[in-house]
Amino acid sequence: MIHFNEPPFTGKEFEYMRQTVEAAHICGDGMFTKKCHAWLEERMRSPKVLLTTSCTHALEMAAILLDIGPGDEVIMPSYTFASTADAFVLRGARIVFVDIRPDTMNIDENLIEEAITDRTRAICVMHYAGVACEMDTIMDIAARHRLPVVEDAAQAVMSSYKGRPLGSIGDYGCYSFHETKNYSMGEGGAILIRDIKNRDRAELIREKGTDRSKFWRGEVDKYTWVDFGSSYLPSDMNAAYLWAQLELADEINDRRLGLWDRYRRELTTLAERGKIGLPHVPEGCVHNAHMFYIKTDDIEQRSRLISYLKERGVGAVFHYIPLHTVAAGRKYGIFHGQDRYTTRESERLLRLPLHNNLTGDDVSYVCRRLKEFYG
Ligand SMILES: *Cc1c(COP(=O)(O)O)cnc(C)c1O
Repeated sequence: MIHFNEPPFTGKEFEYMRQTVEAAHICGDGMFTKKCHAWLEERMRSPKVLLTTSCTHALEMAAILLDIGPGDEVIMPSYTFASTADAFVLRGARIVFVDIRPDTMNIDENLIEEAITDRTRAICVMHYAGVACEMDTIMDIAARHRLPVVEDAAQAVMSSYKGRPLGSIGDYGCYSFHETKNYSMGEGGAILIRDIKNRDRAELIREKGTDRSKFWRGEVDKYTWVDFGSSYLPSDMNAAYLWAQLELADEINDRRLGLWDRYRRELTTLAERGKIGLPHVPEGCVHNAHMFYIKTDDIEQRSRLISYLKERGVGAVFHYIPLHTVAAGRKYGIFHGQDRYTTRESERLLRLPLHNNLTGDDVSYVCRRLKEFYG
């Protein structure tokens, strides 16, 4: 069976987790958390990165940091994971969904401006499959309307846009280290803070509203409850697990890109014959091979293909029922403008197996089955 996903594991994880236990520091912000912070700050050229318990929680922190409240509107695509919306809905915001571009499945940057009202408080973009949104246009719109930008970069660790790491461009960037992502700690994530002036408040929110981080740095002689917050810091045992992969981040990235390129190469003829659609990576975007997907003709053909692959030992899945079409989306949001591509393209998209244990032979096997299916 070629699984759709297998959790990342490199071999050093147990050793590093053992070290946290021996250091008698298994709670948050221990030695492995510090290593991960330093690595991410340097690699992503971000002045401050904080590990969190999930990307969902990183997004929640961003929403709190932006003082999002009842009646505020936040613009985002409808083709995204529930967490992108949840984080803002928890603060009482109303979500304004806009359509996507069919080539990248990312928010259509040209539709954002017309969705802005005097209640708009933020723009939240999501870099689908680790391929960047059109950030120059988006940051320009945001600057002209004095709106902050949050990047849901859950899928985009190690991707870049015109040489800038994704997650580091907007006011806040949110990463996921869930087991379905390229690098994992089981459940976990990180928030990237672009402006250092926001660091202290982010630390407070992550540490139950206390100034404990300042205390550890020796900046205050005792820590107290300063503002409201929550507990968004992960255990150092989880950070130890993640560190084993960050150490090998380039190897993992190169290997995944090799598998991705092989899919693309072996499926080119099917695409040229007009049987399937393949992902598009715009000029200036360097992706991280988070995902390989194809597009079928329609939802009916996709269902048949999923069963066909399953019978031949291949796990292929689809995702995102557009948020505006489901119960919570109808309750907490509205779709601005016309849904030209969100629903239609989401019904065509099928994700093929791609994980760190996949082999080139596995890719060829999957591609052969696809060619058989399409005759
Ligand atoms: C995986 C994912 C999330 C959620 O990440 P968690 O770490 O599981 O909270 C959010 N947004 C997108 C786009 C994702 O792919």
